[in-house]
Amino acid sequence: MKDDVHGVAVTHPEKLLWPAPPLTKRDLALYFEAQAAWMLPHVANRPCSILRAPDGVEGERFFQRHKMKGASAHIVEVQVAGEAKPYIAFNTVEALIAAAQIGAIELHPWNCRPGEPEAPGRLVFDLDPGPDVAFARVVDAAKEVRERLEAVGLAAFCKTSGGKGLHVVTPLKDVRARPGWDEAKAFTRELCVQMAADSPDRYVVNMAKTLRVGRVFLDYLRNDRTATAVAPLSPRARAGAPVSMPLTWAQVRAGLDPMRFTLKTAPALLGKSKAWADYAASERPLAPAVKKLCKSSR
Ligand code: ATP
Ligand code: MN
Repeated sequence: MKDDVHGVAVTHPEKLLWPAPPLTKRDLALYFEAQAAWMLPHVANRPCSILRAPDGVEGERFFQRHKMKGASAHIVEVQVAGEAKPYIAFNTVEALIAAAQIGAIELHPWNCRPGEPEAPGRLVFDLDPGPDVAFARVVDAAKEVRERLEAVGLAAFCKTSGGKGLHVVTPLKDVRARPGWDEAKAFTRELCVQMAADSPDRYVVNMAKTLRVGRVFLDYLRNDRTATAVAPLSPRARAGAPVSMPLTWAQVRAGLDPMRFTLKTAPALLGKSKAWADYAASERPLAPAVKKLCKSSR
């Protein structure tokens, strides 16, 4: 059996990708079609890795960043300086449906500006609870990251990861002589190091798993040239079909339950929400923030 979504063929549309709630390949294609206008500004024209689960989330899953033979022409290739093979990119609603067609459930774009792999376009703070850490502690961490960003003149937006934690995202403005990836990474590292130094019992920047017990891990390593983070509204190949849900800061409070936001529930909830409405208007240059943060560390 074959379906057509937005003019793109979807074969085996009844194939179950998530067993519970039961969600099919057609459901994924229709979700991408409906959310494309919201998602594409955050995804398009950047190298974008995908996590594929062609036999559903309980089957074999694999990451892919280069084009496969026979893939849809809607999935385009972008050449990145110094990289032998071009990366794939998803620039249109048709490309997102072509992603669903190959069982690409998760989209993980670079955090560069669209069309400019060398220019940081956003900062991402990936906040992960250690074992036995209540989600409310991750909420506290997100709010503190926001305070620290705003204190140096940057904006902050929060989303669930669709997994265990939260992501705080900062849109950056393009300016001449803009800082590059080294500066973006150094800035996010410094902000996280300062935060962990102020509350060593609550936060940790070190990768070592043993140090994460009882603490929230502040991961700044998404902020590098080839690093990726799951896109806002991307579904996750995890039980229950959660998505990475853009939130208003009012939603980032005790009692927040990331599993409320699924492929089934997210579209209606987002329709009623103002989450990230001022994202594009909130781009700020990084350089002045770097100066301010360095001053506060002395
Ligand atoms: P959680 O809140 O559960 O930690 P997450 O999205 O923050 O969810 P992961 O799914 O563990 O975290 O992924 C961490 C990061 O590493 C993601 O941002 C993703 O883009 C990247 N990533 C994960 N696995 C791979 C992989 N196999 N290849 C390339 N990048 C990957
Ligand atoms: Mn995480």
